[in-house]
Amino acid sequence: MNLHEGVIFLNGEFQERSAKLTVINPSTAQPLGYSVEGSADDIDAAVKLAQAAHDSRAWTSIDPLERTRILGRAAQLIREREADFSAVMSAEMGMTLNFAGWMEVPMAANALDFFASLIPQPKGVTAPFSLAGPQGDYLAMTLKQPIGVAGLITPWNFPLLMPVWKVGAALAAGCPCVLKPAPQSPFTALLLAEVLHEAGVPEGLLSVIPGSDEAGKALVAHPGVPKIAFTGSTETGKHIMRSAADHLKRVTLELGGKSANIFFDDTDVEEAVSGALFGIFLNSGQVCQAGSRVLVQRGIYEAFTARLKARVEEMTVGDAGDFTSDIGPVVSREQWERVRGYIEQGKASGATLLTGGVGVEGDGFFVPPTVFTGVTAKMSIATEEIFGPVLAVIPFDTEEEALSIANLTLYGLAGAVWTRDIKRALRFARDLQAGTVWVNTYQILSPTLPFGGFKQSGLGRELGPQALEPYLETKSVIVDLNDTPMQMF
Ligand code: NAP
Ligand code: MG
Repeated sequence: MNLHEGVIFLNGEFQERSAKLTVINPSTAQPLGYSVEGSADDIDAAVKLAQAAHDSRAWTSIDPLERTRILGRAAQLIREREADFSAVMSAEMGMTLNFAGWMEVPMAANALDFFASLIPQPKGVTAPFSLAGPQGDYLAMTLKQPIGVAGLITPWNFPLLMPVWKVGAALAAGCPCVLKPAPQSPFTALLLAEVLHEAGVPEGLLSVIPGSDEAGKALVAHPGVPKIAFTGSTETGKHIMRSAADHLKRVTLELGGKSANIFFDDTDVEEAVSGALFGIFLNSGQVCQAGSRVLVQRGIYEAFTARLKARVEEMTVGDAGDFTSDIGPVVSREQWERVRGYIEQGKASGATLLTGGVGVEGDGFFVPPTVFTGVTAKMSIATEEIFGPVLAVIPFDTEEEALSIANLTLYGLAGAVWTRDIKRALRFARDLQAGTVWVNTYQILSPTLPFGGFKQSGLGRELGPQALEPYLETKSVIVDLNDTPMQMF
């Protein structure tokens, strides 16, 4: 397996560092390898290189179509090396090989192709100019300019896709970047750096500094970094926003969720159960947009929960590197304990444990797929982001009730409605307070559509036609075309 042990990626090369960061394989609970505990000095070196690349226009002076080709080549290399990427991410954070190869790796390559396509698009506009008082002849336009060094901080749950969403957008906008991946998943990010370098991204444009604690904070605090893009927990997002305020840094935040997956009586029960399983159990529930609350109308509630139990009990839990596993482990002992804590809270709060539970202590950090029924909207398992394979099923009677339960959360990342009634579907599409709404499906995303959260699920959007906007500053330029410039004195 291609593990970049003991190195950071800086100045277009892998450089050794002695400060060790142990990465654990969650399927075995044994060390997988040693990464680097990046320091504030490493971050400073990376930021200085990125600033120099920005100042010398090392990237933006390259023909835009060539830059498009470079990112396109990187996308192609990711596809060609799908097996390498899948093996690394599966070993470091427990994503099943099946899911990595089927979804995460192709989605990352697609996103990079999309960012590449934005590079040669016109940016900025010419504007009619209006001057109160004296008339005259002016040419006015806006320039969209790369903001400068982008500091990118990513979580472990999608170890390739999250870095690609940020690195791809930053580079497409013309910004050099410094990526601090999660300490649980540094090796995938380093492999991405290798691929981008091989595709032709010049040195200094991208550094990858793994680390826990010091590196991330140093990046957010660095005065040479005007832009921070972060994905992770809402709590950490708030810390980052506070810290970024000191330099008035631009921030985009993709945070947590507690999304509702809503099934009306007119849904086929088997389809509903498939939609609920797909919504919650992908990647062991470690998906920010997971449909962790399933709302089921009373008419199908009994049939739904009976089929759900049977289908969940057919799922196989096992080593993420085994193609036959439906569900791998959760990422770490810490996460395993956290999830088990929520399962205990669910039992104590009076919800019914339909299937699953804490399970037995074994070698890896496994949690069986777990379902609670009879959940009420205010129990902690219905309000807090568990980030594990735990589903809360909530019955409802009316459309109004379903909408109010769905929106009764401080989050607003995603949601779905399943129904054959077109008007009802469109009412939910309009009224759910969430950045993404699905009708009769769940989870699927396209790089052509913006992704992000309402309320405490985030700030700003990634992807979509405006994906580069957070990495650009807008400048108004006014040119006097009159023979005699305006003067008053
Ligand atoms: P986290 O604290 O949000 O960490 C995400 C990333 O931010 C990591 O790279 C982390 O590395 C870094 N980070 C943490 N504190 C920072 C700070 N003050 N300044 C700069 N960077 C910082 O998430 P976690 O600790 O891995 O997981 C905790 C919970 O967050 C999970 O149980 C889950 O509920 C939620 N989560 C949500 C998402 C999502 O996509 N919505 C993703 C992951 C986790 P260091 O901690 O090493 O600095
Ligand atoms: Mg942390």
